[in-house]
Amino acid sequence: MSFAKASVRDAEVKGRRVLVRVDFNVPLAEGEVADDTRIRAALPTIELLRERGAALILMSHLGRPKGKPDPALSLAPVAKRLGELLGTQVKLAPGVIEGDVDLTCGALGPGDVLMLENLRFEPGETKNDPKLAENLAQLGDLYVNDAFGASHRAHASTAGVADYLPAYAGLLLEREVTELTRVVESPQRPLVVVLGGAKVSDKVGVIDRFLEVADKVLIGGAMCFGFFKAQGIETGNSLVEGVELAGEALERAKQSDCELMLPVDLVLGREFSADTEHKESDGVEVPEGWMGLDVGPKTASAYAQAVSEAGTVLWNGPMGAFELEPFAAGTRAVAEAVAAAPGTTVVGGGDSVAALNQFGLEDKVDWVSTGGGASLELLEGKELPGVEALLDAEEEEETDV
Ligand code: ADP
Ligand code: MG
Repeated sequence: MSFAKASVRDAEVKGRRVLVRVDFNVPLAEGEVADDTRIRAALPTIELLRERGAALILMSHLGRPKGKPDPALSLAPVAKRLGELLGTQVKLAPGVIEGDVDLTCGALGPGDVLMLENLRFEPGETKNDPKLAENLAQLGDLYVNDAFGASHRAHASTAGVADYLPAYAGLLLEREVTELTRVVESPQRPLVVVLGGAKVSDKVGVIDRFLEVADKVLIGGAMCFGFFKAQGIETGNSLVEGVELAGEALERAKQSDCELMLPVDLVLGREFSADTEHKESDGVEVPEGWMGLDVGPKTASAYAQAVSEAGTVLWNGPMGAFELEPFAAGTRAVAEAVAAAPGTTVVGGGDSVAALNQFGLEDKVDWVSTGGGASLELLEGKELPGVEALLDAEEEEETDV
């Protein structure tokens, strides 16, 4: 499958002002960027545009400032970090709209980079207010969306603005959509999907989709206790959620050719803490006074085996409370199996990616998705408003400017 939207690669940008939506919603610590992964992920698009002689106006949200300015959520540290990465000065406008931003963007020349302040300082952003969208559109000659992680939201900067400007996909967004779409639509088989993490309700849409298209779905994390409870198995003090949804998924799995695998053993702890008393348990019944905090070694090796035999692996969600050393082994085993797998490997989900990084394996995976919610919605088969709003590949803007 080829990407059906117009790409920034094919846009005529020389001497033009390009308004670029990026996802710079990064963690901050003491007024500095604590993790610049998302900033680095947008560099290919930014560098392509600068090399081709565009002037860039970048826009992003950061945190949840609720429609009014909050100095703690200023993009100033992000502009500084981006400037270091690009080796150029990145100017920061004091706001988002006219009055704070000079509509001509001053003397912004080819290769220059200006960043708007946090989009969510404006109440119209999350409401997809057409007035704000039009205001943003006035700043540029064309629009590029590279904020895959925000593209599942119909906001002024991700969807509305495309009503007023020719709209193109950035390189990151294009790659994300291509890689994730390939997993569901044309994977090398067998397709093995490993799903874990906290909640059944977060991932039930993805479970359902993969029961239709995958060869194996392997369940781990706290999520497995929803499945066990639905089967009448004792879960002790484990985190249990989404029992009814899990029960429905079990029913669907019976009708499906896809094999749904659940853990066969566990690591138990007294409480969610690194120094709690802990033990392995053969079987999956959790006695009163204990909670399941990781999958056990038999499960880990069965899952690793399935991963090693896959043509394509998608992994989303840790197998246990990997942040706590006594409960990290299941997630480590899956991460190592994914890293070593001969098939195509794709990892998504904030905590799964954090786990990969913790084990130093992020470079051994074919594609690490930057979009948590957006990647889940795409995998579920939902349309992403920030992608739908872009020009179709065949209706690119006439380029005789
Ligand atoms: P992702 O961000 O990769 O999509 P989630 O946010 O769904 O993953 O879940 C990650 C969280 O789930 C982690 O903080 C981890 O500690 C927690 N978790 C996983 N397994 C368990 C468990 N058995 N009990 C309690 N918490 C768990
Ligand atoms: Mg998470």
